[in-house]
Amino acid sequence: MLSRGYYGEFGGVFIPEILTTTFDELAEAFEKVKSDPGFWQEYSHIMSTYSCRPTPLSFAENLTRHFGGAHIYIKREDLNHTGAHKANNVMGQGLLAKRMGKSRVIAETGAGQHGVATATMAARFGFKCTVYMGEMDVERQRPNVFWMERLGAEVIPVIDGTRILKDAINEAFRDWVTNMDDTHYVLGTACGPHPFPEMVSYFQSIIGKEAREQSLKNEGKLPARVYACVGGGSNALGIFSAFLDDRVELVGVEAAGEGLDTGRHASRLASNDGSVGVAQGYKTYFLQDRDGQMKETHSVAAGLDYVGISPILAWHREKGRIRFEAATDSEVLDAMSLTIKKEGLIPALESAHAFAQAFKEAPDLSADDIILINQSGRGDKDIFTIAEAFEDPGWKAFIQKKGNEYGA
Ligand SMILES: *Cc1c(COP(=O)(O)O)cnc(C)c1O
Repeated sequence: MLSRGYYGEFGGVFIPEILTTTFDELAEAFEKVKSDPGFWQEYSHIMSTYSCRPTPLSFAENLTRHFGGAHIYIKREDLNHTGAHKANNVMGQGLLAKRMGKSRVIAETGAGQHGVATATMAARFGFKCTVYMGEMDVERQRPNVFWMERLGAEVIPVIDGTRILKDAINEAFRDWVTNMDDTHYVLGTACGPHPFPEMVSYFQSIIGKEAREQSLKNEGKLPARVYACVGGGSNALGIFSAFLDDRVELVGVEAAGEGLDTGRHASRLASNDGSVGVAQGYKTYFLQDRDGQMKETHSVAAGLDYVGISPILAWHREKGRIRFEAATDSEVLDAMSLTIKKEGLIPALESAHAFAQAFKEAPDLSADDIILINQSGRGDKDIFTIAEAFEDPGWKAFIQKKGNEYGA
């Protein structure tokens, strides 16, 4: 690994001096567990007994027939405990925090999925837990707030800035500065200062390790292409990492929102709107204006709505190793409907970005080719957004009735 977490010009550690010792301690602890086979064993054991590892690789027979091109396989991260790949990261960091003797964990959360995953891990391992969440997101994501609180976490609404994910990250760092001794910060994606990008990717690499083996076992060969959606980049790096040295094309799919030319999107690498900068402790492509003010992002998928991107992905893009594309909200809803009807699978809105791009390309590939789509999570959580997008009349009546019951 390169010194101090640089990937080309990206990454690094841009933190207040007071946190230097904490970051050094974390980097050291991570190095230690990486070279300890017992740690990975313990990690695998908990993932197979508490979550659902190995997750299956499902052959999408009906979608394959529908498109008439490549054989389509789906890696089922939706079957993890709490419904997404986020479990891989939080359980890994939880075990690490235990080894470091910490008694409390904190996390940032946007849509609330990482917050719920962290609160779940904290309940399981007996940590105290505080989750920072932008006030806007607290209002929008009540079901996740409800579950975090049931799980025993304290949810603190962040009223700074635009009151969304990036503000929650800043607040979590502020907490960490004052509580370094007993607290571990469970960062939710492969972003932030070193060692987080590497560490989160390391825990997520279990996805790719399994998928590569499963592909060889099922079809006797590797996929031609692998697709993953990209928010911060953790599920993408998780599945891509196992194929980096193979002749396999890797495709990261960002949120094109209402279209890349509308300004209402969250695409840092596939659009021309991202630029290199330093923020939130690391250097990467951000959606920012000329003064370095972060722009507002837009996506139908709350989990892809982040201004930065993993420095590791920025580096692979620069080297030409990973191709970046973007799918619009309406392409994503179409891909989601088709997947539900054809396969009985409900991908998360985030994951459906990977499906949308794969569907654009599958017909052009031959039946000898395999493509692999990472279903990063399940879509049940998105029922409010999806029902609204499809203007489902029964759902609307149901919500109205509930409102009336509460005297709204
Ligand atoms: C959080 C989330 C994402 C985006 O995060 P990455 O770090 O880019 O993987 C994607 N899919 C689902 C289901 C999520 O919950």
